Amino acid sequence: MATHTTKMLIVGSGPAGMSAAIYGARAGLKPIVVQGLQPGGQLTITTDVENYPGFRDVIQGPWLMEQMQAQAEHVGTRMLWDTVVSIDLSGRGQAGTAFRAIGDGGDVYEGETLVIATGAQAKWLGVAGEVELAGKGVSACATCDGFFFRGKKVAVIGGGNTAVEEALYMTHHSPEVTLIHRRDSLRAERILQDRLFAHPNIKVLWNKRVDHFVGDAQTGLTGLALVDTLSGENSVFPTDGAFVAIGHAPATELFKDKLEMDASGYLIVEPGTPQTSIPGVFACGDVMDPIYRQAVTAAGTGCMAALDAERFIAEREFAAQKELAQAAE
Ligand code: NDP
Repeated sequence: MATHTTKMLIVGSGPAGMSAAIYGARAGLKPIVVQGLQPGGQLTITTDVENYPGFRDVIQGPWLMEQMQAQAEHVGTRMLWDTVVSIDLSGRGQAGTAFRAIGDGGDVYEGETLVIATGAQAKWLGVAGEVELAGKGVSACATCDGFFFRGKKVAVIGGGNTAVEEALYMTHHSPEVTLIHRRDSLRAERILQDRLFAHPNIKVLWNKRVDHFVGDAQTGLTGLALVDTLSGENSVFPTDGAFVAIGHAPATELFKDKLEMDASGYLIVEPGTPQTSIPGVFACGDVMDPIYRQAVTAAGTGCMAALDAERFIAEREFAAQKELAQAAE
């Protein structure tokens, strides 16, 4: 079991963690990235990416993450394949302390600053056909995949802000969007509901639960097998695409009772900054962003986290030097 020390410890290796690493390494902080269970993050389970700036042609999610990792390593990041199982933030960023993380096999990681980039996962329904047809008509991200359903009929499943936003977004591509919800009222904000109900291309199917996804690897998704939650009646809703939009789960289990988070578990940061409730601990990407959740916004907040970590260290070092100088007088 080894101890690894750094000025900047990054937990998570999606676009947020990688961008923090690139900026941190270039600032001389010699970052360590603990990659986590899914190195590269959510993009490694995506195929076509068309909305990450800088590439005229469609690129593949896993390829994009390989490039980010190679770039981060090239400028001096140490990439370690481990999963953090516990974390100690009790030093609270005070001079002379470090944040401590313990890896799966007992390795210890100590960082003068900590950048949390552990991301979030879309929640799935967990019904038959969902895994088999993911990427073949079933998706959990309209902003990512909506473009591939141009001119096609699609369904969006859910009743919160995400579902309504995804349905509204899909009207840019699809002539007929159907929102399918398990109850008879939406959880989404009033203003979003008003927009949804006013849209001529959106219909709502109330009180319907998805029993399973219909289709196979050859045909792709062809429909949704539905059950009426009031009458129990079965039906099949034919569709070319289905977006599961029932919320996201941020990966913040490690930080429970240690950092402030909202009711859904997202880390709370000072508005417009990546600063969490403990000085020297920064959060970036989907773990602190329930709204935008894009690779490019995650990369942006990763950059902000690194710049603020650098500033935090510089200020702490400056204060320590000042104290020494005063003591010597
Ligand atoms: P929510 O938890 O608000 O909504 C989830 C929806 O999915 C609910 O309608 C729920 O149904 C439904 N659902 C959950 N599980 C299942 C299931 N197994 N089968 C069928 N339906 C299911 O999640 P959101 O992602 O919409 O929002 C999360 C947070 O992020 C909220 O605080 C939201 O306000 C915020 N957000 C804000 C945005 C904005 O401000 N523009 C955009 C997106 C999100 P039921 O209602 O019956 O429980």
